[in-house]
Amino acid sequence: MNQIPTIILGGGFVGLFTALHLAQQNDARPIILVEQNDRFTFKPLLYELLTGEMHMEQICPLYTDLLKGSKITIVRDTVKTIDLSQKRIVLTLGQAYDYGNLVIALGSKPTYFNTPGAAENALPFATANDAMTLKMRLQDCLQTAVVTKDPEQRSHLLTVAIIGAGPAGVELACTLADLLPVWYDALGGDYEDIRIVLVNRSNEILKGDINSRLRQTAKNFLSDRTVSVELLLDAAVTAITPMGVEYKRMGKADFLPAMTVVWTGGTEPHPLLKTLPVTPENRNKRGQLQVLPTLQLRDFSEVFVGGDCSYVSAEPQPATAQVAYQQGKAIAYNLKALAEGRSLMSAQVNLRGTLMKLGIGEGVANIFDRVEIKGELGHLIRQGTYLELLPIPIYNFKTTAEWFTDGVLQRHQTPSLHPTKTGRTPLLAGLTATLASFLIATPLIWRAAQPEHFQKNMESTGLPTLMDQLVPETVNQQK
Ligand SMILES: Cc1cc2nc3c(=O)[nH]c(=O)nc-3n(C[C@H](O)[C@H](O)[C@H](O)COP(=O)(O)OP(=O)(O)OC[C@H]3O[C@@H](n4cnc5c(N)ncnc54)[C@H](O)[C@@H]3O)c2cc1C
Repeated sequence: MNQIPTIILGGGFVGLFTALHLAQQNDARPIILVEQNDRFTFKPLLYELLTGEMHMEQICPLYTDLLKGSKITIVRDTVKTIDLSQKRIVLTLGQAYDYGNLVIALGSKPTYFNTPGAAENALPFATANDAMTLKMRLQDCLQTAVVTKDPEQRSHLLTVAIIGAGPAGVELACTLADLLPVWYDALGGDYEDIRIVLVNRSNEILKGDINSRLRQTAKNFLSDRTVSVELLLDAAVTAITPMGVEYKRMGKADFLPAMTVVWTGGTEPHPLLKTLPVTPENRNKRGQLQVLPTLQLRDFSEVFVGGDCSYVSAEPQPATAQVAYQQGKAIAYNLKALAEGRSLMSAQVNLRGTLMKLGIGEGVANIFDRVEIKGELGHLIRQGTYLELLPIPIYNFKTTAEWFTDGVLQRHQTPSLHPTKTGRTPLLAGLTATLASFLIATPLIWRAAQPEHFQKNMESTGLPTLMDQLVPETVNQQK
């Protein structure tokens, strides 16, 4: 038997879902997952980590828990080099591995476009650590502001600038505009002193993004937060200093004083991709690698690349979790097909619409890019959909149950300074939300408790579920 392992680099949406699908195939070949962190990060829910709406165990489960009972070896280290011609990878701690097949799933990193001072002075928002660092910074600022006598200094401490009005910038701005007033009010401060400014280079938010159809909805929600989010559009950021943001607007240089600056202005694929022997024609402007529809790298058919690291030229997909986890499933299928000498399949990626968080307890679900459901119901659909996607049904059951009791039965604990912004009476709002929650929670809990039964029944209806489930063998294997 060939004992050269299949190695997966990166345990994000592509890497973890490849591993989970391989685990259930009972493949006898050794599989190694190399990941720098001990926890998977469900990035679309990072805002909930910041606000405390969900906790670390829910959003960032341990790999050892997720892959318990499988034959996959987890190596916790950072990939240092990838040698495609020698079929070898080297890790930071010095270990080297030869591979038979390789999956490159290292994701992307924030890029600052060489903006002076950005890397040093702006906070990124892409990992669980980033979310916790931002939380601490904001709490420090509020605590200092509440005892500061100088109004100018107080205003500086209470201003947050978010660079980039893509989906992450919009979602973060909406979240902070509801969250910070609650925190500041609890300290005894006047929450109306808080400023959240969303700074964007072009004059449109969500430009060129799959969420661009939601632009008007997003604008309405940005202005309808506990404190209204200010839009600073057409502003080209020229530098970030420890005191704030330097920018140019209509040819004029200006400065926005802000103690906290968060950068959501762009990402680029993992820097290790630049070291690979792939010609410029087989890379796009972002630096992603072109792959075949089977997700194999051109000229290196034993190597698969997915998620934020790759693109298929015939059918380019947005760099999203929704695409990445479906590619993970396809890569696992193709690895098995390769081993068995069968033909490979093109990765099928179905975009089922988009979801955005537009405040605490509010969101929008753009289902199949046709039906827009917003407000509390949009929030519940978003939350329910993500709970369905959280890996491993057993884990999901615990999380679903926690979300159901925290989010639905204890709704009064959701931090908000004016919960009836929608204009409905609290009783009507409560009844609508509770009814909607039950409608959404019932299939979720059904799926979590009886995945086989759920899968069989959903399939027989012919209805597309929002997310592909892992097939039930995962559960069987663990028993
Ligand atoms: C704040 C935020 C919100 C988002 N919201 C949404 C959303 O609502 N919907 C949506 O579809 N998408 C969303 N995305 C995008 C989505 O998260 C990414 O497209 C998706 O995670 C890409 O999957 P991936 O597997 O390519 O990379 P990732 O999920 O980023 O995984 C890469 C993995 O590689 C590991 N890694 C990196 N370098 C090394 C190394 N040298 N050695 C070892 N391990 C390494 C990382 O630790 C990570 O675990 C969001 C992203 C962010 C940052």
